[in-house]
Amino acid sequence: MLAQITAHPTHAPRPRRRSPATLARRSAVLLLLFLCIPLVATLALHPAPAAARNPSVLDGLALAQRGVSANLCALTFDDGPGQTTEALLNILRDKGIRATFFVVGSRVHLYPETLKRLVAEGNEVGNHTFSHISLRQRAPVEQLSEIARTNEELARLGIVPRYLRPPYGRYDNATIDAAAALSMTIALWSVDSRDWRKHDLSAVLPRKSYGVRGVRGVFLFHDNHRETVEALPNLIDRLTEAGCTFVTMSEYVETSGPLCLH
Ligand SMILES: [Zn+2]
Repeated sequence: MLAQITAHPTHAPRPRRRSPATLARRSAVLLLLFLCIPLVATLALHPAPAAARNPSVLDGLALAQRGVSANLCALTFDDGPGQTTEALLNILRDKGIRATFFVVGSRVHLYPETLKRLVAEGNEVGNHTFSHISLRQRAPVEQLSEIARTNEELARLGIVPRYLRPPYGRYDNATIDAAAALSMTIALWSVDSRDWRKHDLSAVLPRKSYGVRGVRGVFLFHDNHRETVEALPNLIDRLTEAGCTFVTMSEYVETSGPLCLH
């Protein structure tokens, strides 16, 4: 190619004079690119999870989009019931708010009275599998069993959970099918307190990253950490000051109807 160009210098491209219409078109394209680049970058950094397109999964994105009309805050506690659950219930009662507990089925028979109290005080119970396994890539029949056995344990106490929270947030299509077969919806979270790792709740305190719409969302905690229990009263006060309206998981989903995915 280099030899050809050298041999035929007259074929070298000459600068062209552009018409005003062409320049206007190019300006419009450049402006469009300028406007689109931030959007493309945002999508690249925060790709919509596949689950967001599935009507039976409420993942962080779907949950964050809900509650747009109010600062709805749903506190959720995983991995109980346990020795600290009663203390958590005392705090919720004293603060006059309700929360949702995603319980492990194998622990239900150990704390029947705690669960009865939990429901009697207006809190909600969700399913967190029977033995707290990662459901993803497990055989469909095993996944169904993990969820159904927990429902059976809860049914003995008259409790019918509407939401499934897969441990570690891990699930696949078989999980979605199993939940749907049991008339349940998979519900993850939008704000992770990371209480199991950092042993404090600073990750959910009001901060700039919540943006102008303020504090809201489905908050993930674990009710088997003493540090969580100790920090919770202050955290609830901070969230209340920030404008939180505390609701259960069902209330959170039902109250924020406009973005309903069903
Ligand atoms: Zn868990």
